[in-house]
Amino acid sequence: MADFNTNIQYVKGVGEVRAKAMNKLGIETLGDLISYFPRDYDDRRNIKKISELEIGETVCVSAIVAAPPVLSHIRKGLDLVKFRVVDENGQLNITFFNQAYIKNSFVTGENYYFYGKISGTKSKPEMTNPAFEIVGKADSTMLRIMPIYRLTSGLNQKAMANAVRQGLNACADQFTDVIPNYIREKYSLASAAFSYENIHFPKDGKALSIARDKLIFEEFYVLACAMGRIKSGRKTENGIRVVAADINEFYETLPFELTDAQKRAVHDAYTDMTVGNSPMSRLVQGDVGSGKTVVTAACCWLCAKSGLQSAVMAPTEILAAQHFETFSELLRPFGMRVDLLTGGMSAKQKKSVKESLTNGEIDVIVGTHALLSDTVEFSKLGLAIADEQHRFGVQQRAALAKKGSPPHVLVMSATPIPRTLALIMYGELDVSVIDELPPGRQKIDTFAVKENMRERINAFIRKHVSEGRQAYIVCPMVEEGELPENVKSAEKHAKLLQEKIFPDLRVGLLHGKMKARDKEAVMASFAAGNIDILVSTTVIEVGVDVPNSVLMVVENAERFGLSQLHQLRGRVGRGKHKSYCILFDADGTPVSAERLKVMCETNDGFKISEADLKLRGPGDFFGSRQHGLPEMKIADLAVDMNVLVKAQKAAEETLTADPKLIAHEHKALTMEIERVFARAEGTMN
Ligand code: ADP
Ligand code: MG
Repeated sequence: MADFNTNIQYVKGVGEVRAKAMNKLGIETLGDLISYFPRDYDDRRNIKKISELEIGETVCVSAIVAAPPVLSHIRKGLDLVKFRVVDENGQLNITFFNQAYIKNSFVTGENYYFYGKISGTKSKPEMTNPAFEIVGKADSTMLRIMPIYRLTSGLNQKAMANAVRQGLNACADQFTDVIPNYIREKYSLASAAFSYENIHFPKDGKALSIARDKLIFEEFYVLACAMGRIKSGRKTENGIRVVAADINEFYETLPFELTDAQKRAVHDAYTDMTVGNSPMSRLVQGDVGSGKTVVTAACCWLCAKSGLQSAVMAPTEILAAQHFETFSELLRPFGMRVDLLTGGMSAKQKKSVKESLTNGEIDVIVGTHALLSDTVEFSKLGLAIADEQHRFGVQQRAALAKKGSPPHVLVMSATPIPRTLALIMYGELDVSVIDELPPGRQKIDTFAVKENMRERINAFIRKHVSEGRQAYIVCPMVEEGELPENVKSAEKHAKLLQEKIFPDLRVGLLHGKMKARDKEAVMASFAAGNIDILVSTTVIEVGVDVPNSVLMVVENAERFGLSQLHQLRGRVGRGKHKSYCILFDADGTPVSAERLKVMCETNDGFKISEADLKLRGPGDFFGSRQHGLPEMKIADLAVDMNVLVKAQKAAEETLTADPKLIAHEHKALTMEIERVFARAEGTMN
């Protein structure tokens, strides 16, 4: 007997060849097959008399084959099968292209349904390549709403629909609901059996919408429960107790006073680490330039005071190098040792750093993904920090957290995402928000310009450089050899600027393919003021801090997401000088003008990310899968936000009642969580 784990090859009517094609779509088991939801539907309920057909409409016709189909071989690669069908008082010409075998599918004098688009003329209507079926067939695919699936070669709609139909028939009585009954009742959600049946073969529009609502809810609910369970799991672990120390001792060495919001964030983390038993899991969210680095440094300081090590993980080598400098400056006065570990270092250097880590000489280690490597061992890891964490997946966070008897985890993010999204993406974390910028920051004036402003902008750059300031020019990241005509490559652009436009100024170049050491050298040189204009790809997008740079020029701004532009803009306006952001729009369409207008109108990261979400959909947050969450099968975060909120609430109810999800009624739920996350793991970055 078939169940959800049955290999699709053995589902009635599938077989080896089609199974191979389905594998390409990620369908391996019967369970996968029925979870492969349609991308659209054909409404075949509307049956019409031939005499009433309108040209261009897609309809279902019931008619009798009037004469045997005729196969004509027009030329190589073009075969036609043509015949005439009739109903009471009309006739319709049917044509099939390149399906010679279909000639034998019809019996003259028999009644068939044909479903397709009407062409020809009102007096001589035609239908080309229609779906068809003999009238009176069991499991009819006519006079109803039929699914349309995303296909791959070796499959057609009919075969897919048939396989799903057989699959559903085979397991109709085996559905157990992932959502426990008490939640299903409270939120009026349909049963699994109903939902799977009607998402594929809806009885009517209402049934379809009930099925969809349930499945979307389920997807969000599973995710929210998964995140919540991680969180409550962490709460029961024994954290490393950090001994209270007077944080003012650290504050007093700083060249500035922390903002209230910064102090609050430090205080939250401080409390997590010194009070209570469970390890900290905290997200610090603050717009670009809000001063997150010093908050993390304060936490490292506190751990070092207790003789514990801290690990700071940054998404790029440049950022790691920069943090290394900052942390060293802040912590060395206390005799604390800070070191750097990145993939680009020599084997010998790495080995020596790792040794000092293992024997406990290092207090704070700053690094990239290299810190996650198995060969990195700590003597006493107390705190793991992930900076600019939207680049890290859930799993990577977990890997870092595993290095030690569960360390405290602090995650820093500048991506100002709407709260509902934050709950899903960082659902396992407590949140502190830095909602205040350091005093004296000025608004960064932003202008979207077209090519005709080029000379004026060049003069503008020159003026600022002559006043001793610096500028960034960012070009989009493009694969070599596929550079569209109007897109600037960083390398070429830097050459042009240095040779033709600013021969008397110092132009630097930074791009992703450079060696780590070269990148660091360029960045250090820019930070030291030895480069006037830094042309780069988006490698500088996150975190980089050079307060003397006041101009951010973005080439082909139309190719960037708004949140990304906001990150880039955040590289300037970090010092006391008035700063500007210039967005070159090579596209010039109303759509891109509309998008860039958002940038010109506000400096508020939250407003920008909301606009981004509306304009582009959640792709920026979810499509890239950089977040490390499973891909959504049916739910769409931009559209289904209200369902998300409800599912979130339901998940909270479930977790309050059963924090570890061990009750019998949550068995199907935990199995689903494991299934979804196991699958996601393979596709993680
Ligand atoms: P982000 O939150 O984007 O990571 P950073 O931590 O890089 O921001 O801080 C941005 C700049 O602001 C740095 O040059 C930092 O020294 C400075 N800064 C941080 N906090 C304050 C403060 N309270 N007062 C003044 N300057 C600050
Ligand atoms: Mg930062």
